[in-house]
Amino acid sequence: MRNIPELFGSMVFNEAAMKERLPKQVYKALKRTMTQGTALDPAIADVVANAMKDWAISKGATHFTHWFQPMTGITAEKHDSFISPSNDGTVIMEFSGKELIKGEPDASSFPSGGLRATFEARGYTAWDPTSYAFIKDNTLCIPTAFCSYTGEVLDKKTPLLRSMDAISLQACRVLKLFGKDVGRVTTTVGPEQEYFLIDKADYAKRPDLILAGRTLFGAKAPKGQELEDHYFGSIRPRVKAFMEDLDDELWQLGIYSKTEHNEVAPCQHEMAPIFSTTNIATDHNQLTMEVIKKVADRHGFVCLLHEKPFEGINGSGKHNNWSISTDAGENLLEPGKTPSANAQFLLFLTAVIKAVDEYQDLLRISVATAGNDHRLGANEAPPAIVSMFIGEELEAILDAIVSGADYTDAAKTMMSIGAAVLPPIPKDTTDRNRTSPFAFTGNKFEFRMLGSSLNIACPNIMLNTAVAEELRQFADELETADDFDAALGALIRREVAAHRRIIFNGNGYGEEWPIEAEKRGLLNLKSTPDALPHYTDEKNIRLFRSHGVYTETEMRSRQEIQFEEYDKTLQIEALTALDMLGKQIIPAAIAYSGKVASSISAKAAIGIEVPDETALARELAEKTAALLQKRAALEKALAAVPADVEQAAHYYHDTVLPAMEQARAVADGLEGKIAKEDWPFPSYGEMLFYI
Ligand code: ADP
Ligand code: MG
Repeated sequence: MRNIPELFGSMVFNEAAMKERLPKQVYKALKRTMTQGTALDPAIADVVANAMKDWAISKGATHFTHWFQPMTGITAEKHDSFISPSNDGTVIMEFSGKELIKGEPDASSFPSGGLRATFEARGYTAWDPTSYAFIKDNTLCIPTAFCSYTGEVLDKKTPLLRSMDAISLQACRVLKLFGKDVGRVTTTVGPEQEYFLIDKADYAKRPDLILAGRTLFGAKAPKGQELEDHYFGSIRPRVKAFMEDLDDELWQLGIYSKTEHNEVAPCQHEMAPIFSTTNIATDHNQLTMEVIKKVADRHGFVCLLHEKPFEGINGSGKHNNWSISTDAGENLLEPGKTPSANAQFLLFLTAVIKAVDEYQDLLRISVATAGNDHRLGANEAPPAIVSMFIGEELEAILDAIVSGADYTDAAKTMMSIGAAVLPPIPKDTTDRNRTSPFAFTGNKFEFRMLGSSLNIACPNIMLNTAVAEELRQFADELETADDFDAALGALIRREVAAHRRIIFNGNGYGEEWPIEAEKRGLLNLKSTPDALPHYTDEKNIRLFRSHGVYTETEMRSRQEIQFEEYDKTLQIEALTALDMLGKQIIPAAIAYSGKVASSISAKAAIGIEVPDETALARELAEKTAALLQKRAALEKALAAVPADVEQAAHYYHDTVLPAMEQARAVADGLEGKIAKEDWPFPSYGEMLFYI
């Protein structure tokens, strides 16, 4: 029997390991840094490093690495061994405070969006003591931030930490107005991760899956998800064994893997962890994606993290459950039991509503990738329009506040903000609108637009900073008010009225919604090239600059990186499609139609007439000709991509992508007419319904 409490966190230099191995004073100093975000005293770093090394060696580690999150979206590491030569030809195992605190990887091959051209090529990594070090593949991994020598951030973690500081600062100001002296407020995240598992042997035969992460061709299988027999269905033994192994690995790394289940599409699954502090949740989600892939491989599977690996069935997303709580453990999005607690709750709720409305564009941009474009707005995902679901009860309360009317709840109590008659707010856990991109689910918000492969740092940076800005405005106004209760009531009434349009409790998948949203003046940024230009809108630059999260240069570089990433993704897809058409699909079609034709002439030679087979041969020849033309058109489109990254993104979206889709339509039509043994790839049916 596995001893799970013993297994849990056994590969993490966590509280327990620290307490055991660090001198009391050092532990206390480190703890202060972790909980209050204060700078770490370099004097204690050597002691911590040494204790970490001894601990890691006792677990079999031989190397260490600074583990960081460059803008590629994945994690990066460069391994150094602990060995250090001594005079007598032997080695000792060493790890200094300096090595713990700072590393200098060669940064020149990571995307920097022009930052490198203007500034230094080299960057450095700096320890993030708020996220525990851990051991992976016999290597001590130290979570770090990654910057250029002139201080520009080159990663996703630094701005995330900055955004957490920003929201903490402003939330503490607001809490003070409610008589609470709070040292630090943190945002918490529980990211639910969806993924596909397919058989390794099938994967190996599909260049599109290998190179592009998604199928670029493939006729629909006779069966998809229409019977809804996979969602929460019993898990097949092979997958069950994988999940058990996955849990073990995640638990060892201190990741609170809680729920594993089958998702809607065949071979689609989900893992939901218990929530934690945002930067830890981000590190853990990055690790989770890596571990899922590794464990899948051991079980003869390949894990697909692409947002839309298969057409015609659901894609994969990631739900970012988000809340804010104080260091005393008070969840600020938990409706309170007393009227004054409710006034505070409503103020934070109003801040989120205002933030989501004013920064719809940023939230959309934070999830904009080529892969996610296949999902947003399709039938299973939230639409590309950002709106909020808050439940009928809360909506009624907000409407009553705005109109100053009575709010009739069970107790039929008069509503009046800040006064002693605010009714208890019922916790709405029942009516969950699954179609809403941003839903209030009782004591947290669930941001559902994220794609499955996304690093969750970006959406959380946007969310934290936008809410920080609204809290700043609220604090500025309320701190100078003569009558706090009256000012609070007026503020909530005014802001809810101004941002009421973002609240939509209806069906986000409905055809009427985009029309209604347009009437409300909400943005509908359908694709990544549509969304990205807004990144550097004046108001957004002002937002990030004023909260010290990004400089304008950093934002422009990030925007450029996102454009580039989009362009490169589409280029790889188009080239892969050309390759598959030219080397496999068209040759298969030609060969098979040739087979049919020779069979017809062989039969004709002995006097057998086969008019239907002749018709088939003709159809195959026509479709093959069409495919040759579509391939040529795609090739031609690809030869004319503009040089500018932004123009190229629009061109890929408007010209290359449709050319790929047209070629695919013809190829998929051929697939059903060609003998199984003559078709070069495993079909959707074979990939999705393995044993
Ligand atoms: P379900 O949606 O399946 O009913 P829950 O609502 O309990 O499950 O939680 C979904 C996810 O939200 C889980 O990852 C959970 O840990 C996370 N979550 C719960 N509370 C919070 C919170 N205060 N902050 C952030 N995430 C949370
Ligand atoms: Mg889910």
